[in-house]
Amino acid sequence: MTLLQTLSPLCEVVEAGPGDAVDGVAPALVARPRSTEETSALMRACHEAGAAVVVRGHGSKLRWGRPPERLDVVLDTTGLDALVEHSRGDLIATAGAGMPLARLRELLAEGGHQLVVDDLAADAGGSTLGGAVATNLAGPRRMWTGAIRDLVIGVRLVRADGTVAKAGGKVVKNVAGYDLSKLVTGSFGTLAVITEVTVRLHPLPEADRWVGTSVEPDRLAAVLEEVVHTQQVAHAVEARVRPGVSPAVVTLLSGTEAGATARAETLRARLADLGCEAQVHDVAPPWWGVLLHPGQRGGTEPPAGSRPVLLKVTARLSGIPELLAEVTRLEGTANGSAGAGVVYVSLPPDEQAGGKVEALRRAATRLGGSAVVLDAPPEVKDTLDTWGPVPAIDLMRRVKTEFDPTRVLAPGRFVGGL
Ligand SMILES: Cc1cc2nc3c(=O)[nH]c(=O)nc-3n(C[C@H](O)[C@H](O)[C@H](O)COP(=O)(O)OP(=O)(O)OC[C@H]3O[C@@H](n4cnc5c(N)ncnc54)[C@H](O)[C@@H]3O)c2cc1C
Repeated sequence: MTLLQTLSPLCEVVEAGPGDAVDGVAPALVARPRSTEETSALMRACHEAGAAVVVRGHGSKLRWGRPPERLDVVLDTTGLDALVEHSRGDLIATAGAGMPLARLRELLAEGGHQLVVDDLAADAGGSTLGGAVATNLAGPRRMWTGAIRDLVIGVRLVRADGTVAKAGGKVVKNVAGYDLSKLVTGSFGTLAVITEVTVRLHPLPEADRWVGTSVEPDRLAAVLEEVVHTQQVAHAVEARVRPGVSPAVVTLLSGTEAGATARAETLRARLADLGCEAQVHDVAPPWWGVLLHPGQRGGTEPPAGSRPVLLKVTARLSGIPELLAEVTRLEGTANGSAGAGVVYVSLPPDEQAGGKVEALRRAATRLGGSAVVLDAPPEVKDTLDTWGPVPAIDLMRRVKTEFDPTRVLAPGRFVGGL
């Protein structure tokens, strides 16, 4: 019996096309379960057949990490897209992993709520809830509520052998012992298939105001110090550096219409005292929370030369100005959450990329953080140490062995070839 014949009775399964490749590795099949039960049956069958599976949401980040060592089935989560519950009194919601963040935003807004997660892939087709959890990435408002790891309070999972597990629950304080929800957040689909997620919500603010200024490089540290710690209570602070252009700093203030406007004016005046001319806007600048490049979606290759080396670089808050100065010295571009200590850097994919990645990694380490290569053209990725040193690698190896002993889920994609 072929794999297609084995899996077809379990859920919707089709033969894969060229757009289904994961970082250049082609699967044979694409399976689209519509429930946790179908996902469980599918994983049990793949496990028994020894078929390697990569989970795909909207595919906006599938090239991150290493290419899978082998791949038979892409498990498409877009059939798991229900809003299971929106408990308005408790400020929590449960939704399927394939729920698009944009759709979730619309549904929650009907009750005056939001999941405070910025969809950095919005310009590349948008993210699913499961994909956002699996990559634990955070955008500008991480400064306010933390990354998505801090907002997930429960998950429903299907383990590599098809076993269904549930972790956490529907109350914000609920964890005794190990917190499985936190473990799978950021695991890049290597430990389990997330089928349902319960998240903590926040009220939607009445108004947002962005205070933007451009800063001479030698004033950057003072300006960031001011806006990150302003008494006007910033919800996000983003900095942008590009070769040959003065750094830009934009601060988000959210609240009531009158309150946000007044706080923005106060911050603008304070920046003027520091010698920076600032403007108040009621829409974000076009680069706010944008990380991906047009065309970088699923298996489709972006136009030649437009796929840079993309890194996620962290540092302690006081180290961000020095980190941005290093990016400038290396002729890179950076957009980042200066208020959360996370900066996304893009470097040209040329022969100097390896040396520049190492230089950034040294700077990040010195400043209390780390540098991870998220994406790069294959010929450059092959020459790079994408993850850098990982002190807990032995522990991670043991966790992978516990969850997925036969290495069915995304083999080779994660740290240390897990
Ligand atoms: C640079 C960047 C920054 C982002 N910042 C934020 C942010 O601030 N907040 C936020 O919420 N989102 C953010 N996102 C969105 C989110 O982290 C990714 O966009 C998300 O991975 C996209 O979802 P996707 O459906 O495209 O995932 P995909 O690219 O399809 O998958 C991403 C990874 O998750 C795995 N995966 C996907 N679904 C599941 C699942 N159900 N179970 C197990 N593994 C799974 C995949 O195998 C893959 O390794 C950001 C995305 C990017 C690219």
